[in-house]
Amino acid sequence: MAKITRERATRVAKAHACSHCQEYTYRKLSVKPASAAITKELGAVWIAVKVCGVCGYQSEIGIEADGDIVFES
Ligand SMILES: [Zn+2]
Repeated sequence: MAKITRERATRVAKAHACSHCQEYTYRKLSVKPASAAITKELGAVWIAVKVCGVCGYQSEIGIEADGDIVFES
């Protein structure tokens, strides 16, 4: 299955506002491939872990093969 690159997944995550304070700055951001189980259950192929630069809120963002965000927790 074709999927977006890690670089593009990183851009998607960066463009996503903090769900806690709505800011776009981040202190830490890492993007890793989703496990096969997560891809099967939730449709995400990349998991981005983002720590907000303003409030420190940590969120996990699931990104689909075409670059859409499928979940955030
Ligand atoms: Zn925040």
